[in-house]
Amino acid sequence: MTPARRLWEWATGLLARAGRRIQPAGGGGAGAVVAEERLPCAGLWNTPMVQVNGDLTTCCLDEGLENRLGNIRETPLAELWTGPRVHAWRVAQAEGRYEDSGPLCMRCNWKSAGVVRPEEVEDYLRRTHESAAIDRFRRRPPSGRGATGPRKVE
Ligand code: SF4
Repeated sequence: MTPARRLWEWATGLLARAGRRIQPAGGGGAGAVVAEERLPCAGLWNTPMVQVNGDLTTCCLDEGLENRLGNIRETPLAELWTGPRVHAWRVAQAEGRYEDSGPLCMRCNWKSAGVVRPEEVEDYLRRTHESAAIDRFRRRPPSGRGATGPRKVE
């Protein structure tokens, strides 16, 4: 990883933890800082990424394998992708506890993989019998459930 990339990840991670992000150039003001409710990331639900050696992680951003879930040569992909580790991260994201949602997820810019649809989050929590998490997900502000877009800081 280049020093510039490392600096960018550090800065975006800092802002992500503070609930802010840097508006990209052409997106309504280059460099403007906007506040928004962070949304559950589609990567955790939909984009398993397998490295050539069989290591499985959550998404293509994880080149350093910080979110490594195991190796498909040792454990079937379906088992790893539905295992307790990634499940706990999904529940944490649904509840808005991003600091508990995976070593890379916790400081991710979270826009790369897109937003998982609220219906999909609720369906997942229902299938995994996480009724308390469904309640907490529903109590989040609408923007935190993917119902609206980002809020601009006044
Ligand atoms: S939050 Fe970031 S690191 Fe985590 S799965 Fe989504 S894109 Fe990947």
